[in-house]
Amino acid sequence: MEHQDLVDKAALARDNAYAPYSDFRTGAALLTDDNTVHVGALVENLVFGVAMCAERVAFFSAVAAGAGRPEALALVAPRTAGDRTYPCGTCLQVAIELGGPDLQIVAASPDIPGFDVKTIDDLAPGIPRRKRLLR
Ligand SMILES: [Zn+2]
Repeated sequence: MEHQDLVDKAALARDNAYAPYSDFRTGAALLTDDNTVHVGALVENLVFGVAMCAERVAFFSAVAAGAGRPEALALVAPRTAGDRTYPCGTCLQVAIELGGPDLQIVAASPDIPGFDVKTIDDLAPGIPRRKRLLR
């Protein structure tokens, strides 16, 4: 699957984000090595700490579906500080646990043409990780 297809699926999931407090609508799409895609959308709550990022919704949905190893995660989100938005540290921690350091992060913003592709090591080189994947 092409990265653009994954970005398109994340953009569709973004349309379903529940973001009445921040209006910072985000959507994610996760490709696994069994060639399935699992989407997620931001879900906010009156109690802010209960909110869940779109990326983790996608990862947890893939686990619940019994999907294969995550290979690529697309995130579509508004800009942060003028640039594309990348997954937060908590989501990167989940990403490296389930997908390992080779997982590709595909970041897109609605008002910036195209997308950027990075690895977890590009974004968080010292993040805690296992020596090998468990699944
Ligand atoms: Zn996050």
